[in-house]
Amino acid sequence: MTKTLGIIGGGQLGMMLTEAAKKMPEYISDVIVLDPTPKCPAARVGAKQIIADFKDKNAIVELSLQSDLITYEIESGDSKVLESLHGEVSINPSPSTLKIIQDKFLQKQFLRQNNIPVAEFDAIESLEDLERKIIQYQYPALLKARRDAYDGRGNFKIEDHSQIHAAYQQFSGRDTMIEKFVDFKMEVSVIAARNIHGEIATYPLVENIHKNNILEITIAPARVDSKISAEADRIAKKTMDVLHGAGVFGIEMFVTKDDKVLVNEIAPRVHNSGHHTLQSSKTSQFEQHLRAILGLPLGSTNLKHTTIMCNILGPSDFFGKYKPISLEQKDGVYLKMYHKDEAKPQRKLGHFNVVDEHDTKDVEKLLEKTRQIKNSIRFIQN
Ligand code: AMP
Repeated sequence: MTKTLGIIGGGQLGMMLTEAAKKMPEYISDVIVLDPTPKCPAARVGAKQIIADFKDKNAIVELSLQSDLITYEIESGDSKVLESLHGEVSINPSPSTLKIIQDKFLQKQFLRQNNIPVAEFDAIESLEDLERKIIQYQYPALLKARRDAYDGRGNFKIEDHSQIHAAYQQFSGRDTMIEKFVDFKMEVSVIAARNIHGEIATYPLVENIHKNNILEITIAPARVDSKISAEADRIAKKTMDVLHGAGVFGIEMFVTKDDKVLVNEIAPRVHNSGHHTLQSSKTSQFEQHLRAILGLPLGSTNLKHTTIMCNILGPSDFFGKYKPISLEQKDGVYLKMYHKDEAKPQRKLGHFNVVDEHDTKDVEKLLEKTRQIKNSIRFIQN
């Protein structure tokens, strides 16, 4: 019997999940998304839409009534509401996993309890508590908002004593934690999947380059030696094992200057650093997520070719409607736009993949080509 898939969130991740679902008509007949933006990206590719806030209890209940299984493309759904529905509809990753991940402190505590390496951290209860603890952590240290923080917006890097007050003020009224600053040499991630029967599969380690706290480029595979990629893979598999969640997870990590691998953060969903899989792998992360939550055997995670993904973000001085982005899609270049009519600075509007289809393995050249393409993209007011 085919199923109706409900997704909390209908942005670009929901859009690419919808596109993957449309290629599996023998399992999924309909997709319905809950998203506050009318004509959200997922709705543009054929998903039905409930227009409401991600945390709107009635809307989540409505979504559950219309769906056979529920998943999410954002982690900010109301885990309490989801928990109350869990018996009635299949929800993956499970609301209990979501609850741990939604709170950075609980997430790190969970990882540490399971002997998964993370940077030193602690909860902060008051300004005095921060003043006391930062002596032990030394400068710089990070003050992080525990919830609802993404793309670096919930972090304050405290460089010296004079900034403690400003850091604490910035997150006034929110729960916070302190974390040791990791002087990393590279940011990396593993896209990992676990299906409802417990089968686990990981994609090769990728390297992530951020600009202004937002992912700019992903290089698949990461330029690290095999010992580091094996260690990252071991940590990712162990994380999936202890988390018990079903679906695809993005596990972000640091490689330290002395070649240790630390987990920074887990996203309980398909992940921006997995977009390369649309071209680089037989099974994309979007199909893999659906396979995982449907209970199908997981697909191949082998990289067919070295691939670089580059995000297309709204330019810093551009607001409003823009003419379609043109890009010559040949020689291993693939463009994916997200059907967002209006640009604003730093908004994720699309991405392109540059695939090393002739297996030159010349990553520097591939990077140069990627940057050239990126610089050639023009936003023109429409
Ligand atoms: P987050 O939102 O916590 O994942 O952090 C966003 C970005 O901040 C990461 O991609 C890192 O570049 C940086 N960051 C986060 N935590 C640390 C840390 N403990 N040490 C150094 N940089 C960090």
